[in-house]
Amino acid sequence: MMEFVEHRQVMVLGGGPAGFTAALYTARADLKPLLVTGMTLYGQASQTHLIENFPGFPKGVGGTELGQLIEEQARHFGAEVVFDVVTSVNLEQRPFEVCLSSGKYTADCLIICMGADSRRLDVPGEREFTGKGVSFCATCDGWFFKDKDIHIVGGGDSALEEALFLTRFARSVTIIHRRDALRAGAILENRARNNPKVKFLWNAVVKEILGSEKIEELLVEDTVTGEQKRISTEGVFVSIGHNPNTTLFEGQLKITPAGTLDVDRQLQTSVEGVFAAGEIADPYFKQVVTSAGMGAAAAISATKYLENLEK
Ligand SMILES: Cc1cc2nc3c(=O)[nH]c(=O)nc-3n(C[C@H](O)[C@H](O)[C@H](O)COP(=O)(O)OP(=O)(O)OC[C@H]3O[C@@H](n4cnc5c(N)ncnc54)[C@H](O)[C@@H]3O)c2cc1C
Repeated sequence: MMEFVEHRQVMVLGGGPAGFTAALYTARADLKPLLVTGMTLYGQASQTHLIENFPGFPKGVGGTELGQLIEEQARHFGAEVVFDVVTSVNLEQRPFEVCLSSGKYTADCLIICMGADSRRLDVPGEREFTGKGVSFCATCDGWFFKDKDIHIVGGGDSALEEALFLTRFARSVTIIHRRDALRAGAILENRARNNPKVKFLWNAVVKEILGSEKIEELLVEDTVTGEQKRISTEGVFVSIGHNPNTTLFEGQLKITPAGTLDVDRQLQTSVEGVFAAGEIADPYFKQVVTSAGMGAAAAISATKYLENLEK
């Protein structure tokens, strides 16, 4: 049987930019938050060696380094951090119940910051060349592809938006799509088709990413004929979707059609006292600074909620 550990006023679930910022704010409100990191300490940001668009760092900052700095700041004000994974929650009882692999906690208030995972192609070379030509975020990395001939995999709205954004930097952007028609809206499609920098490679899937120090070629397969060929590239953006980590909350919290936790303007979910911040609740912005900002906002809402509970 799982051992009871302890009760907390507030628990922060997730150790990315949103989670550590929520921990910082609730710690400064003297709520002694407990943050559960999950498997990826510092979240997706830890996968990139240089973040150039987080304010206050004119020369950029490493993703892990930024995470460490926010953690240090949160701990300084009394946040506690536990390296464990949330395995289940019960939001029907008060206080809420949170099970980790090491034990059980109860909490008056929760801030869920469990982020999202970009869908991967799962082909050889993808992991090896991530950060060396393979990217999952045009806003983050577009700048690095000035005057390059690059590719983007996907056929939905986000893929087209990212392709159009990338034309600001790249010499050409070829959209690789598994079918012969896009899934994106008509306006975006027209914009892409009319942009002289955008090209299309229809009925094609990437089977392998090849290179030496950095990416050089893609092995693509024709989905109709099965024929394979190698094409040169200087970069590939994977834009085939995002999976917010909401599985634990299915049936307990309302989820939007985009797959994120449904939150109101105060970042409260469909259950009073349960707040959410960062990519688990944000289908649009998906940045370190916006996730951290949501973490701060959710923590302010959580603090007000707890103040009202005490009255
Ligand atoms: C390769 C890459 C490069 C990027 N570059 C940039 C950039 O240059 N600039 C920029 O602004 N953005 C960048 N981003 C996007 C940015 O990293 C994300 O928007 C941001 O990290 C989202 O923060 P988050 O806290 O909402 O979630 P995440 O960073 O996704 O963190 C989620 C946290 O939840 C934890 N978690 C998940 N499941 C559980 C569980 N069951 N129990 C407990 N904890 C759990 C994870 O361990 C993790 O700590 C990049 C993303 C990637 C993938």
